[in-house]
Amino acid sequence: MKTLVILGASGDLTGRLLLPGVAGLIASGRAPGITLVGAGSDDWSAAQWQERLTGSFAGALADDGQSTKDGIKELAKVQKDSSYHQVDVTAKGALGELLATVEGPVALYFALPPAISQKACEVLRKKELPAGTRLVMEKPFGSSEESARALNVTLAKLVAEDHIHRVDHFLGKSTVLNIMGLRFANRLLEPLWNGEHIAKVEIIFDEDLTLENRARYYDHAGAGKDMIQSHLLQIMAIMAMEPPATLGHQDVRSSIAAVLRASTIGNSFKPDLTDSTRRARYTKGTIGSRKVPDYLSEEGVDPANDTETLAEVEVYVNNWRWAGVPFVLRSGKALGRTRKEAVVTYKPVPHLPAGFTGTDSPTRLHIGFGPDTLTLDLDVNGPGDLFTLDRVNLHTELASDPLLPYGEVLEGVLNGDPLLSVRGDTAEDCWRIVEPAFAAWKAGTVPMEEYAAGSTGPDGWTTSHD
Ligand code: NDP
Repeated sequence: MKTLVILGASGDLTGRLLLPGVAGLIASGRAPGITLVGAGSDDWSAAQWQERLTGSFAGALADDGQSTKDGIKELAKVQKDSSYHQVDVTAKGALGELLATVEGPVALYFALPPAISQKACEVLRKKELPAGTRLVMEKPFGSSEESARALNVTLAKLVAEDHIHRVDHFLGKSTVLNIMGLRFANRLLEPLWNGEHIAKVEIIFDEDLTLENRARYYDHAGAGKDMIQSHLLQIMAIMAMEPPATLGHQDVRSSIAAVLRASTIGNSFKPDLTDSTRRARYTKGTIGSRKVPDYLSEEGVDPANDTETLAEVEVYVNNWRWAGVPFVLRSGKALGRTRKEAVVTYKPVPHLPAGFTGTDSPTRLHIGFGPDTLTLDLDVNGPGDLFTLDRVNLHTELASDPLLPYGEVLEGVLNGDPLLSVRGDTAEDCWRIVEPAFAAWKAGTVPMEEYAAGSTGPDGWTTSHD
């Protein structure tokens, strides 16, 4: 890629996540020769744009240990040469005019409100795009299966599927590769990685963060759309996928797509959504020394939206490997304990020799996210009485990429590799899977429960282990 054009250059995502990601990537020498162009509907001066770049770049480089001397020089040049353009991207021809002035191939990053991105793509014409253009679409991609499909049709008129990057920054390269490395490079794990040996898989993303002034977005999304519909289903797919022949994007994304195509919330043995989904909202409480107000009294929250701040769904991957195994996807805010991990719980052994005492606990494998870790919980004998079973945890850190998640995403975009991007059919399937749950929640069929901020969630929700 020659030019990265960020639409929505004055927005929150651009300032807080995208530009710091760009800075780390360029400063590490992993994206040479890029020109950066910003565009927005505000009439910003060149000085205002430079000020934004200085702020976002400096913050990103402050504690980064991977920048190279040449990379930092390159970043300074990218900043100096960067320009800002006022463009209403929804006006016919306006974006085309801007694109005619930049050097291709171009990565066109839509850091815009979803409805504006959609409109911008509808008015854009293929002939206005420089050869080799890549389109980068933020989440949420559509707001339903139907709208995601319609957006895919619009995009397909502009560029080929492997030139469309639907961003899910949870698909950071290190996490994806760490899970695949563990699963597919260890004979000990993969032969037991199925419903014959595994009782359940939990994918948990519990945060102690609260609304943090993001009501405008979050009060319409809730935990279900913010986390489960996108990020957690993607992680689930990597946990459940068949071994790909190569790490190329075609093989990996096809394996991911096959899992999601086979997935449903609930299954024929558990068809009732009140059994397979739960939702709750935090009330006032204390997290550490922080006093947290009731969610409904937070600024900008509309009680009529009936937004959940904690959601849990039981997904089934209806294929030979996973039939009947629940994948529990859970995410919430204002919880007393931060937990970001996938937990694989194995079935009990068929027969424990009589004579052992102590608790026979299931074997569990935890894959922690950001920083990535691996912990294996096993039963061993002793200490002291060798007839008594005790628990040990074997733990190791997994490799990480020093780039910020958005740096990893952008590296894929700028190098023309869609490996970490969500494929079009997968984006539609993620909506198809969760839509029945969202409809039941909206209709009030599944009751809204409550939990005090700082607790572990509503009574009876605690997952089966710690
Ligand atoms: P903001 O509302 O902060 O920014 C939106 C940007 O779009 C502004 O720069 C705005 O310019 C610009 N814009 C609006 N209308 C037009 C138009 N007609 N022509 C040109 N520019 C326009 O949104 P966010 O940055 O928060 O979100 C952007 C996208 O990123 C969304 O899809 C969001 O879901 C996604 N996202 C955001 C995250 C976040 O943490 N913020 C995290 C993950 C995804 P102006 O201000 O001049 O109107």
